[in-house]
Amino acid sequence: MSTSDTRSPESDAVPTAQIPDPENVAGGPDSRPTNPAGACAVSAAPTPDAAAALDPSYDAIVVGGGPAGATTAAVLAQHGRRVLLLERERFPRYHIGESLMPYTWFTFERLGVLDWLKGSGSPLKHSVQFVSTNGKVSQPFYFFQTIEHECASTWQILRSDFDAMMLRNAAGKGAEIRQGVTVRDVLLENDRAVGVRATLAGGETATWRARVVVDATGRDTLLANRLGWKRRDPDLNKIAIFTYFTGARRDPGLDAGATTVAYIADKGWFWYIPLVDDTVSVGVVAEHDYLYRDTRDPEAIFRREAAECQWIREHLEPGAHRGPVRVTGEFSYRAAAAAGDGFCLVGDAYAFLDPVFSSGVFVALKGGELAADAIHAAFDRGEDVTAATFDDYARDVRYALDSFRRIVIAFYDQTFNFGEFIGAYPDLQPRLVDLLVGNVSRDLEPLFEALAEYSRRTVSSGAATTCRREPHAAQDPP
Ligand SMILES: Cc1cc2nc3c(=O)[nH]c(=O)nc-3n(C[C@H](O)[C@H](O)[C@H](O)COP(=O)(O)OP(=O)(O)OC[C@H]3O[C@@H](n4cnc5c(N)ncnc54)[C@H](O)[C@@H]3O)c2cc1C
Repeated sequence: MSTSDTRSPESDAVPTAQIPDPENVAGGPDSRPTNPAGACAVSAAPTPDAAAALDPSYDAIVVGGGPAGATTAAVLAQHGRRVLLLERERFPRYHIGESLMPYTWFTFERLGVLDWLKGSGSPLKHSVQFVSTNGKVSQPFYFFQTIEHECASTWQILRSDFDAMMLRNAAGKGAEIRQGVTVRDVLLENDRAVGVRATLAGGETATWRARVVVDATGRDTLLANRLGWKRRDPDLNKIAIFTYFTGARRDPGLDAGATTVAYIADKGWFWYIPLVDDTVSVGVVAEHDYLYRDTRDPEAIFRREAAECQWIREHLEPGAHRGPVRVTGEFSYRAAAAAGDGFCLVGDAYAFLDPVFSSGVFVALKGGELAADAIHAAFDRGEDVTAATFDDYARDVRYALDSFRRIVIAFYDQTFNFGEFIGAYPDLQPRLVDLLVGNVSRDLEPLFEALAEYSRRTVSSGAATTCRREPHAAQDPP
């Protein structure tokens, strides 16, 4: 096993030599369909001359080039707006967050990147399956059983490759991309954002001005930190320890690309996500005190938990370990507000939610789209961008986050049993499915009312012994 990564749990921006980089993805870059932006160079942090550094003519500055930032920049550029995106790293760079929700399809369609995804070699994800602590596997929950649309199949993506493609795509649509530029601060004048101050790769300082600044810095949460807006979720406070294998076991046929969630006894869960190039992403999520109970060595903790989880042990057994073992804190949080005058927060820069249902990239993409449309509409009306510009954006993103959070809380609730819940409320199964695939524009209130009623009933009937991690858990998933 290679060396463990014991950096701060808050950091997962660790380089990895072992994970295939985009040039090594199956078929090679030349065999892939040409991205609309494929030929477009993404500039690598040129030193801005004095004129560029002071150029006030950008409509928008987007800070961060992950899925949220790249989407915001691409949509604004599609609207004909002049956009500057500043990214600290040089892509491709490592990132966690590899399993998509089916409803990401609609943003991909709008951005024109579906062909790239289809030709990328990324495994198709048709389903999610759950495994109980005794190794019993649920009937896979196939999205096509409830969605009659192409989006019923989504992808398991290598983020270094995917994120680089998204940035190229934004550049192809006209956004100016500068990599190796670390934004240090957002310039505020009378509480209105007017630009950013950044450090270039060579250490020089540069300043750019624009009519709006979009914070898409992910879990670095540039503005939420600066403004003291970050609020931790006291109920969702986990640690993830994760790594990669090649040659590990894949389930046959349609299930080869499934996400598997395997419970560990009453303490958390493993993810098992098949990626391109016969690589598997595998990680364990649980509370700090449980994971660190007898050692602080992430590699030892990962090995211990993998050995104790039958399904994971059996699937990893033929594989070879690749890459460092990484650690990251999974504290869920949300900023006190999603926007202010002249700025907004998108993706993880606004909120991060426990990733058990793979909602993060979906929220980043959808949020990027909504924020960009709101900015464009304000400009079209001839208005300055104010906090109110983002009222609809904030409402929709909050509703999505609140909805996903309710189901995440149910997942961790020892008294909750998905199978029993659907048995008690069969009419609500389609609503539950809507939530799990990302169809959060539906009215999900009936589902939430039933979840609350079910919880009250199980608590008052003392049914807390219905631990979904015991054998019958194999029937649990909806
Ligand atoms: C353990 C774990 C597992 C996860 N699994 C999944 C999953 O399976 N599916 C899923 O959908 N989501 C998952 N997520 C969540 C997912 O990773 C995020 O929700 C998603 O990456 C958010 O995208 P973003 O664009 O907001 O932020 P990011 O992807 O983090 O991008 C932010 C970018 O901003 C740049 N940046 C930061 N600070 C600065 C600065 N000061 N100046 C310039 N640039 C800066 C960074 O370099 C980075 O490229 C997981 C998260 C964790 C922690």
